Amino acid sequence: MPEEKKKSNFIRQIIDADVAAGRNDGRVATRFPPEPNGYLHIGHAKSICLNFGIAEDYPNATCNLRFDDTNPAKEEQEFVEAIKQDVHWLGYDWGERLFFASDYFEQLYDFAVQLIEKKKAYVCDQSPEEMREYRGTLTEPGRDSPYRERSVEENLDLFARMRAGEFADGSRTLRARIDMASPNLNLRDPAIYRIRRGLKHHQTGESWCIFPMYDFTHCLSDMLEGITHSLCTLEFEDHRPLYDWYLDTLETPCHPRQIEFSRLNLEYTVVSKRKLTQLVEQGVVAGWDDPRMPTIAGLRRRGVTPAAIREFADRIGVTKADNLVEMGQLENCIRDDLNQNAPRVMGVLQPLKVTLENYPEDQEEWLEAANHPQRESMGKRQIPFARELWIDRDDFLEVAPNKKFKRLVAGGEVRLRNAYVIRCDEVIKNADGEIVELRCHYDEATLGANPEGRKIKGVIHWVSARHAVPAEVRLYDRLFNHPTPDNARDGSDFIDHVNPDSLRIIEQAMLESGLADAEPGAAFQFEREGYFCRDPEPDRLVFNRTITLRDTWARIEKAGGKK
Ligand code: ATP
Ligand code: MG
Repeated sequence: MPEEKKKSNFIRQIIDADVAAGRNDGRVATRFPPEPNGYLHIGHAKSICLNFGIAEDYPNATCNLRFDDTNPAKEEQEFVEAIKQDVHWLGYDWGERLFFASDYFEQLYDFAVQLIEKKKAYVCDQSPEEMREYRGTLTEPGRDSPYRERSVEENLDLFARMRAGEFADGSRTLRARIDMASPNLNLRDPAIYRIRRGLKHHQTGESWCIFPMYDFTHCLSDMLEGITHSLCTLEFEDHRPLYDWYLDTLETPCHPRQIEFSRLNLEYTVVSKRKLTQLVEQGVVAGWDDPRMPTIAGLRRRGVTPAAIREFADRIGVTKADNLVEMGQLENCIRDDLNQNAPRVMGVLQPLKVTLENYPEDQEEWLEAANHPQRESMGKRQIPFARELWIDRDDFLEVAPNKKFKRLVAGGEVRLRNAYVIRCDEVIKNADGEIVELRCHYDEATLGANPEGRKIKGVIHWVSARHAVPAEVRLYDRLFNHPTPDNARDGSDFIDHVNPDSLRIIEQAMLESGLADAEPGAAFQFEREGYFCRDPEPDRLVFNRTITLRDTWARIEKAGGKK
């Protein structure tokens, strides 16, 4: 796909203006800050493309990959590694700019001490329930905690002892001292540190038993890394005053600018790590990389390319408007990319045997087939032709149901793609009346030529039975059968909307022999069937359907089998 100039958006316009005004000496620095508590999904891809895309397009701009790892209860090294792999696979490189918020624990602790010294933070002994009760509501102001007026000395002592592990989980917190009557609930003395003893952190081990909260950690991590534009999703808009309050109160040398944009919501799926975790843990899917998952790992295994995902991110753009993107938009990007780049092959998903009675048994020939109908540069391959073939069951009916049916019928003719015209002379059935074989004749004069005196309208795909390789083919469909499974507005749970037919397994399809050597992940168009890719499962030939074809074949059929 040709790299087009990326579309501008309101964030790029803000950055343009900041650069023009000489803010941050014209420097642009962004970051992508995942929490390693699950695998990345297509929503994260939007954020990755936005942040790393800016770093690609502005002179000397940078984008950090920063793990926002302040909650060891849910975070794991497995997720750290998976996230790195996914960002790389999408085509982005953070170079040396890999960071962990946990690298700043010591500095963050010092900032907290500074807040205490400035009388802007205090140790509070309220229980979580009391804190909630004192917090007030959107319509009622909160009440001050009885611990709010503790002296600086007492606060410093208690905070040091929190760190030393003297107090039980939940018994104390360090809180910012802002305004319990603020109309913004986030400013009603939010927690800065909480106690979580006995947890093993994947980066810091057991050296800490107090952990900083997201809002405090995030703005200071941004500041420490010299981030200029901190891009996050809209739910953080109400947190921006707190982001700014920490930086202003601590009088930090630089002050990154937080800008919010709308999350990607995609029809017929869920984009929330919590819900995706549930699908994995309940065994609804085979794992994080199940090809039905909207995770980057799932999309990769499904055969979706990084180029298609980047194109999708570009087409949906970046705005502040809440929206639900049609699955068709993603599917179009996937198709456009595969249509351009996937070599064509033939694979028969529901094999029905054809015997060419006038083709000598000991003969075989290798016919030339183009790997791509429009791109000569993709070359040609040789495909074997012999007396016994497989065609798809759907390509034969004893009697045509209507005039539109251009495939093979008893007594009728059809063209075999890249090969000859055949005529069906006899239909063999088993005792149950099932069709098990077609006896046909081929017309030797029709290789690359129209037959004399008659027009053949249909073209079907086939493989030589002797040369074909059997393979398992997995036909995937949408994972949910409701456009907004987690917001169905009828009180149902998203799991209730899982599509029971999202996976159909064909145990033995028959494929062109060359596919035996396909690399894991390699993408193909199985002509007339769709786009497929080789599953990474070792020692076995398995193909996943990435996506169905647009109905291009109908057009080709209409044109009498000629492109
Ligand atoms: P989830 O709710 O799925 O856990 P999250 O926002 O908690 O998502 P993080 O790991 O904190 O996940 O996200 C890393 C970055 O990706 C954040 O900047 C976040 O705003 C962004 N992001 C997450 N989900 C989406 C989405 N659906 N659309 C756009 N950006 C997203
Ligand atoms: Mg999060």
